[in-house]
This record gives sequence, C-alpha cells and structure tokens, in this order.
Amino acid sequence: MSAKNIATTAVRAGINTDQHHGAVVAPIHLSSTYSLKGFNDKRQFDYSRTGNPTRATFGQAIADLEGGAVGIVTSTGMSAVHLLCQLLSVGEKVVIPHDCYGGSYRLFTHLAKRGQFEVIVVDQSDAEQLSKALAEQPKLVLIETPSNPLLRLVDIRAIAQQAHAVGAIVAVDNTFLSPVLQQPIALGADIVFHSTTKYINGHSDVVGGVLVAKEKELGEELAWWANCIGITGSAFDSFLALRGLKTLPLRMKQHQENAQSVAEFLATHPAIKQVYFPGLANHPNHELAQQQQQGFGAMLSFEVKGGVEAVKALFANLELFTLAQSLGGVESLISHPSTMTHAGMEIEAQLEAGITQSLVRVSVGLEDINDILTDLNNGLNASQHGQKVTSLQNDYAKKTPQFRVSSSQAAVW
Ligand code: PLP
Repeated sequence: MSAKNIATTAVRAGINTDQHHGAVVAPIHLSSTYSLKGFNDKRQFDYSRTGNPTRATFGQAIADLEGGAVGIVTSTGMSAVHLLCQLLSVGEKVVIPHDCYGGSYRLFTHLAKRGQFEVIVVDQSDAEQLSKALAEQPKLVLIETPSNPLLRLVDIRAIAQQAHAVGAIVAVDNTFLSPVLQQPIALGADIVFHSTTKYINGHSDVVGGVLVAKEKELGEELAWWANCIGITGSAFDSFLALRGLKTLPLRMKQHQENAQSVAEFLATHPAIKQVYFPGLANHPNHELAQQQQQGFGAMLSFEVKGGVEAVKALFANLELFTLAQSLGGVESLISHPSTMTHAGMEIEAQLEAGITQSLVRVSVGLEDINDILTDLNNGLNASQHGQKVTSLQNDYAKKTPQFRVSSSQAAVW
C-alpha cells in the first residue's frame, strides 16, 4: 500500500459491498449463526466465532492497509499477542524486546514460566545482545517500534533480515503508528499486529485487536487457531473499528501535528528533565524515524523534575488531560507507566527498560493545541511548586513567554 492511496483505501473499506440492499456502508451482522442451503451445503459463513461478514470486511481492510494477505480480527490486542504464541511449541524460543508493552511482556514471561516455550528478553538496539539471542535459533522474533513508553526505535528491515537468516518468523506490534505511519510488511515483517483499541478505532469505545499475515498460508494457520481458541472479535466492535478506520489517515495527520508542538513545548519547559519523542532532532533515533516511518506519531513521554511527588502534583493540576490507561483516542490522555500500563513488569524489569517513577506518558489528542499546551503548562508549573492552579484562562497561554510552538502552529497564537 503506497502512502498515496492509503486514505482512499481507508475511506472506501466495505463501501458498496452489500449485495442485498445496496447499503453504502457495510452492514453490521450480529447473527451468531447462519443457515445452511441444504444438507452439508454451507454458505460462506456458518458460525460467527469462525467467520462473520462484518469482521471479515474489517479484517480485509486492515490487511489491505498493511499490505498483507490475511487479516484476523481478535477480541483484544492481547488476544492478538496470545494468538502469536500459538506458533510456538514446547522448547521453541521467542525473542522479545525488553521494553515492549507491559502486557505483552507479562504474557510471554508467564507462559514461558509454565514451560509453554522459552523466552529471551533483549535490548534489540544492542547488536551484540540481539546476535546472541538469534544464535539460539528462535522460532519467533517480536519487534515493537517505537517502543512503549520510551519511544525507542529499532530498524525493522535490519532485524527482519537477521531473524530470517536463522529461520525465525518476524512479528511487529504496529499499534503506536498504525499503517498510516509505518508498514512493517514492506520492511520485511511476516506478521503485523495491533491493539485496535488505540489509533485504528480511535474513539476509545472498542477493545480489540488485529493480526495481519503477509502470506496466505501463515494467515490461514493463525485464523485456524483464532477460531480454535475462540478469540475472534465481535461483529459490533468490528463495525465500530471499521467506522473509526475511515478517518484514521486524517486523525493521524492532526494527532502528530499536535504532538510535535507538545514535544517542542516540553523540551523548553523548566519542569522537564527529559522528553522522549522521535520527532525532536535530538532524539537518538530521529534519523531512523525519518527513514522507516511516514511520520513521528503522537505518543511521547517525559521525565518531570521532582520525582513521583511532582508527577502527582502534575496530574492533580491538569484539567483537560484525562488520567487514564490507553492511547490513540481523539482525547488527550496522560499516564504513569510504572503504576499503570507497565505495572505487569517487575520493578527491576521496569528500571532495566528505563521506566522510572518520574516518567509520564502522553497520548496527544485532537483538542485545540492552545488548550493542550495551556493545560500542560499549568500542570507542570504546579508540579514544581506543589500548588493547585485554579481558574485557567485560555489566553494565559498566549501571554506565557516560555511557550514555544512549531512554525505550523504559530498562526493560532
Ligand atoms: N500493544 C501495545 C503497544 C499496547 O499499547 C497495548 C495496550 O495498551 C496492547 C498491545 C494490548 O492491547 P489491548 O489493551 O487492546 O489488549
């Protein structure tokens, strides 16, 4: 899928597919079961766990956007990760990044403890660690780039080449960027997966997942397992996610424009120790992001001066941002990875991955950028003085000299 026609593919997904009434939008099929035409004479669908028309339309749309052969829609992002585990037999090995999503880390390490397979946790940006892990001939290599929550990047093409050389299957978690900003299959991955709970649905009203296989055969094997273990997504969630998908290219454009302004603002704020955002020129993977991605995304994290007490004061003084897990919705969310998204990782593993108590993660939403920056500024100022700021004024932002906004946003001030 070229970047040129991605918006068309997203908008047109499922349009004009209704054979019976000519409904323009793909209808929602809630029926759990389908009649046979006659004895042993099945139609395309027979039972909704196995196959459902609405889910099939959504799965095909994501497969088209990711450039793969088969899209399997699952009940959650974690069930998509669990589906990957079905590729592993006892004694086989999987390599996972040390800074992957906490839930993925928890699933792989706990299933490994029960002996279902062996897990090798590595910092994939460390060439020596990675080669050592690949020398163990893993069956599966999991990549997550940019990583959650520190926005570190790894080179998908290079890792896929090395992994393929030892016969491994390469699966990439593309949740943070969506197919609009990164297409891992074109970079050499065999499988791409998402928590569709995030950008793909985009409205924080669906929990879902999807897994796309480049090759039909691998896709069919995974679809067989998805039905077998019963983790396929519902028709209603598929309908909502398909609806969300249609505005994905447009949303991503505005999300990342807002995020760039937030990152530039944070980088100059006196309450900030460090900002992690690949769109900043001083980010260690800025160049790789330019090569591998079609944009920098809208997730960022930062460390605030003053430790966890400053984090608490920041959260207590925000009015627009919502303190909540998750990401990728139209609304701006803020979270504390150590006690929230990454609580599934032992504290030692968190520190190993660089997740400190002063780390804050932000999912930059689509609110007006003035309001986003005003809220952050008030919260950060209060985080250093331990005071609760009241009666915010919108024009406060305009008068505050330490704001620095990207040139694309300057006109609104
Ligand atoms: N992968 C990433 C990068 C995530 O951030 C998440 C959830 O936050 C998941 C997978 C799991 O998805 P879900 O919460 O839909 O099960």
